[in-house]
Amino acid sequence: MVPAMSRSDLARMIDEARRVVVFTGAGISTESGIPDFRSPGGVWSRMKPIYFQEFVGDPAKRREAWTRAFTGAAGWVGAQPNAGHYAVAKLVASGKAVAVITQNVDNLHQDSGVPPERVIELHGNASYAKCLDCEERHELAELKDSFLKAGEIPYCRCCGGLVKTATISFGQAMPPEPMARAQEAALACDLFLVLGSSLVVYPAAGFPLLAKRNGAALAIVNREPTELDGYADLVLHEEIGAVMSEVAPA
Ligand code: ZN
Repeated sequence: MVPAMSRSDLARMIDEARRVVVFTGAGISTESGIPDFRSPGGVWSRMKPIYFQEFVGDPAKRREAWTRAFTGAAGWVGAQPNAGHYAVAKLVASGKAVAVITQNVDNLHQDSGVPPERVIELHGNASYAKCLDCEERHELAELKDSFLKAGEIPYCRCCGGLVKTATISFGQAMPPEPMARAQEAALACDLFLVLGSSLVVYPAAGFPLLAKRNGAALAIVNREPTELDGYADLVLHEEIGAVMSEVAPA
């Protein structure tokens, strides 16, 4: 079957759907100026990722990680949501979309007005930090001064454990709770809408297939072809902001 290819087809699919789950990847945030970490010019072509085991085992690596975090070297935070994020927020506010599963760590869905409890973050969040032992949340602003002025690597104010930005690093296990919630959402939707993911990274890329096999329609909006275009009911190789602001309910 040749997948549908027009914006009006997508608008109709959204209109007919009762429970939409939105799945977003780097492509929705590149339109906010955040580089795709895997692309040429992206974060990992400029600096080597710090693996979780290095962060935990080596104070010098922790220092390097915090220097990156506080200088914004990765470019993940500080950007503004774009038309794509706002259109997704409208889909959620209208009750059409029940959850937003994201591979991004930039907090832009919450910044655009999606209630935090509707956002399922598969790779965590770079806009705050968490204790690796007791999970107490720490704000970056609170940790920044003592690191930059006194060179102190952050420790947990509650238990003294290691504090790390709330992202899932290379070498770190996928978080079980968001994974379970994403699976539940994928199985409960009748339209699974992928925005800006090349759907290469597993296990995250398994969710569209899970939804599709469970009877949901699958729509993909991404500038480049994806691994799952052949399975989709609709594919648009276009800019997300332009497409979504046209098809999201006013
Ligand atoms: Zn702690």
